[in-house]
Amino acid sequence: MNRKGEMMVGEIREKYGLKSPQVLAAMLRIPREEFIADKFRKIAYSDGPVPIGHGQTISQPYTVAFMTDLLGLKGDEKVLEVGTGSGYQAALLSLLAGKVFTVERIDALSREARKRLRRLGYKNVEVKTGSGEYGWNQEAPYDAILVTAGLEWVPEELFRQLKDGGVLVAPVGRGMDKVMIKYSKRGKKIIKKQYGIFHFVPFVEE
Ligand code: SAH
Repeated sequence: MNRKGEMMVGEIREKYGLKSPQVLAAMLRIPREEFIADKFRKIAYSDGPVPIGHGQTISQPYTVAFMTDLLGLKGDEKVLEVGTGSGYQAALLSLLAGKVFTVERIDALSREARKRLRRLGYKNVEVKTGSGEYGWNQEAPYDAILVTAGLEWVPEELFRQLKDGGVLVAPVGRGMDKVMIKYSKRGKKIIKKQYGIFHFVPFVEE
């Protein structure tokens, strides 16, 4: 067993009070250090974001757990992630859903994440380079969409690619502080529920 992983999950449970047994059990199965460059491996399991190059970061473990929990995955869903980064969040989604599609705008990160996910054996994940503002139309519609970069507003196209009854979770707002929002699609209506404030690297439009 991975002692640092257990400490990380213990912290999410005790310090932040997030219970979600499925999400935390899945996190224990992922070697987080594999998603992080050698020089930062010492802090791979620490309670904060870690640089992954190109000015980007892998999100704080609690943030990853919180967003994943909001998706309420049961196991057979088709999920779209926007902002692949290291691929860590995609690996977590792959353990909790049926199939994961993930889009990253920085080609070097996208290639690295694809290689890493393959090497580590996450088979139900597809990675592509592109801008998440267009989603991944060929594979739509999705049961769940997760945006892992800070948006000012949610691109309409992402709602369009969401199934009726599906959920979209994204950090949204002006400036650095983003509000975590869960949107549920009910026919033509989008129901919105707001959660806490989180910090994110910005979503960059083309
Ligand atoms: N989920 C990642 C962390 C994401 S950091 C992980 O688990 O490691 C946010 C990522 O979103 C960055 O890699 C950034 O390049 C990417 N990003 C920003 N704007 C984007 C856009 N328009 N389309 C796709 N990816 C984007």
